[in-house]
Amino acid sequence: MDTAKELLQKYWGHTAFRPLQQEIIGSVLAGNDTLAILATGGGKSLCYQLPALRLGGLTLVISPLIALMKDQVDDLNRRGIPAAAWNSSLDSRDRARIEGSLRDGTLRLLFVSPERCVQAAFLKTLATCPVRLIAIDEAHCISAWGHNFRPEYRQLAQLRKIFPDVPLIALTATATPEVRKDIVQQLGLLRAKEFVGSFNRTNLQYRVTEKKNPLVFLSNYIGQHRTQAGIIYCLSRNEAGEIALGLKKKGFRAAAYHAGLPPSARVAVQDAFLKGDVDVVCATVAFGMGIDKPDVRFVIHASLPRTLEAYYQETGRAGRDCQYSECILLYSKGDAARLRSFISHDSLSGTNLKIALAKLQAMTDFCETTGCRRHNLLRYFGEAYPADNCGSCDTCSSPPDMADCTAAARLVAGCVQAMPGRFGTELIIDVLRGSKGEKVRQYGLDGLAVYGTGKKYSKGQYRTWIAELVRQGFLERSGDQYPVIGLTGKGRELLNGRLRAMLPAPETGPVKDADVPADTGLNNDARDLFLRLKDLRKEIAGKQGVQPYMIFPDRSLKEMAASRPGDREGLLAITGVGPFKLARYGPVFLEAIRAG
Ligand code: ADP
Ligand code: ZN
Repeated sequence: MDTAKELLQKYWGHTAFRPLQQEIIGSVLAGNDTLAILATGGGKSLCYQLPALRLGGLTLVISPLIALMKDQVDDLNRRGIPAAAWNSSLDSRDRARIEGSLRDGTLRLLFVSPERCVQAAFLKTLATCPVRLIAIDEAHCISAWGHNFRPEYRQLAQLRKIFPDVPLIALTATATPEVRKDIVQQLGLLRAKEFVGSFNRTNLQYRVTEKKNPLVFLSNYIGQHRTQAGIIYCLSRNEAGEIALGLKKKGFRAAAYHAGLPPSARVAVQDAFLKGDVDVVCATVAFGMGIDKPDVRFVIHASLPRTLEAYYQETGRAGRDCQYSECILLYSKGDAARLRSFISHDSLSGTNLKIALAKLQAMTDFCETTGCRRHNLLRYFGEAYPADNCGSCDTCSSPPDMADCTAAARLVAGCVQAMPGRFGTELIIDVLRGSKGEKVRQYGLDGLAVYGTGKKYSKGQYRTWIAELVRQGFLERSGDQYPVIGLTGKGRELLNGRLRAMLPAPETGPVKDADVPADTGLNNDARDLFLRLKDLRKEIAGKQGVQPYMIFPDRSLKEMAASRPGDREGLLAITGVGPFKLARYGPVFLEAIRAG
């Protein structure tokens, strides 16, 4: 019988294994339960396809997407390996053919969905087959800690009971240490051998830049990278459509791809992209699964992804040919706030809400870090990066200017200490800058000795510093839905005078005063509307006998004034507007926006 290496050459034409493939295949062939974590493009499929040949009999492959199964089956059949997918789209002739090849033992790999493989009729057929290996692809779907939880994956635990002697291999590209543990537990893997490949994609450069005018940025960038293939990930179908249109108008070969398009249009875009007739696809997350285009030179996130898992997976579609490629994220705090409010209104259960918010926090920490992005990303996946400077991310190649900001850091830490309890970043800044906001008065914070002692610096400056003080461990952040800031032991040492703090050097230029409307960052029209919305809010608050901010915070009104939503859906996208407030106050505010 051929060795694994000979099979690799004979059926796949590859001369060498990729890192860990040989070890993983060896573990499977030795009959172990195996957990294989390899980055996208690491060559996971081979880790069960090759053993399937070697073991003979039948290898059952559980895969979440019918489209992916089809591609794999076609690919295997082209290589002369008997494989089939069993799903609802089969007609009776196909099904009879598959059943025949199952009976006579000629089929090596059978792909099924997780729902299908626990159905009684299917299991009955399977019971008559010599099942030698069960492979569970995209295994992170089994874990609520993963970014793609699919409850039907939970039923796969039954397979272990039905086939107690058949080894299992679980495979995924993205798994934090919690998810790994969860996969092993949920599937009932026994003494599983775990193989975790490196997540470091050395050929990818990471960059985060402030999102100001995305279309201008994108046109400039694509103009400088003409004819290169790239993907722009967008938050919504609307955004994908608008950006694609904007780029097309400027003469770029761009197309939109999202779930709102008919399947034929989606296939056409995908084909055009693969063929090189379209350079840039502006897509929602619906795009990319199973697309094996090796020369994608850039992936740009026009909006913030919800999790680092998603970010890693999406950026992972760049540079599969191992050539230098760029990953750029356009970041705005507004996007982060909007996502936080989406998630909070997603009617997730308690734990899931907590997980989702914690993941978003990790995503924003990645964007706001002044340290190495690669470091941050790899640490999230439980991998230590050996050097401080990766040389290939924005913060490493042009580190922010750091300066001894001990006095400012003590001011902030002192304020955190003086607060009567834990509060969020914004309120701490309000106290430092002497804001006359409602909350400040409500909590009596204007009576604190620190109140108004930090007018010298802007809000943005404090936000940067507080995030950095958290990163360096002087402050800590806790709470998911409403994160609050506390002082750590290290922070107390800073206050005691035992430690000093290096922070991003303060921005220069005049500081705007706290409560003057000029600070709204709005243009004149929007500022007028903002002031009118404030009046409206005051009027309603007066009638209802509540504080104005309980109706909508300033932040929401500013966003409304800036983006002028025209309908309920638009209003719902504003920070602080949930279904309840939408029903209660939506009509009057929409009316005011329309009139304004
Ligand atoms: P993953 O599922 O981990 O993202 P795939 O199994 O789709 O990765 O493999 C990614 C690409 O790498 C495929 O084009 C595959 O043919 C190729 N590949 C896999 N193993 C090897 C190898 N040992 N040598 C060369 N190419 C390989
Ligand atoms: Zn770096």
